[in-house]
Amino acid sequence: MKLLIVEDEPKTAAYLKKGLAESGFAVQVAADGDEGLFRAMEGAFDLIILDVMLPGRSGWSVIERLREEGCLTPVLFLTARDTVPDRVKGLELGADDYLVKPFAFSELLARVRSLLRRPSLRSAEMLSVADLELDLARSDARRGGKSLGLTRQEFLLLSLFVRRKGEVLSRALIAEQVWDMNFDSDTNVVDVAVRRLRRKVDDPFDEKLIHTARGLGYVLDVR
Ligand code: CA
Repeated sequence: MKLLIVEDEPKTAAYLKKGLAESGFAVQVAADGDEGLFRAMEGAFDLIILDVMLPGRSGWSVIERLREEGCLTPVLFLTARDTVPDRVKGLELGADDYLVKPFAFSELLARVRSLLRRPSLRSAEMLSVADLELDLARSDARRGGKSLGLTRQEFLLLSLFVRRKGEVLSRALIAEQVWDMNFDSDTNVVDVAVRRLRRKVDDPFDEKLIHTARGLGYVLDVR
């Protein structure tokens, strides 16, 4: 498996390269956005780990160009910014997953492995499960061809479920991924958000997609 790391911070790049090489991956490093884009287009990589804040061409611009050029290599982006609009932007531009810095190497490795295992759900900018379709370019979710009228936050939550279809997601993981909050006790926010999302995504339809895994969290799946 060939990985490309696009990261301008030499220490971080070296640390990631070493760890991933020790985990059995063939790793190349690009130190800025232009080099990253060039290498990504030239080499047949299985995955690209892309820092957002890069000198010259930003990570956003790299992924945008890659997707425009029809390169569908999965991209895990690394962001020091942890606001919802930034995440939505990255996912809209075609990133497959993201990690907020600082992160533990074990977490990065888990995400990398999960992305490499995941069957490609993506045509260029659409994700779909049953009659549910997510248009990432427009942040629009539809069922049976009709727009569900989700807010951005709801769209982000739903896209997390769809990307991890069949995986039970704990309230803590959802809180961390969607709100970047660490909840030790109060996961009520997640329950409320999922309830609202279900009202739009599932209530009007016979086939329910979002399921409660009692005591564990939630899972989106076709049953
Ligand atoms: Ca950087």
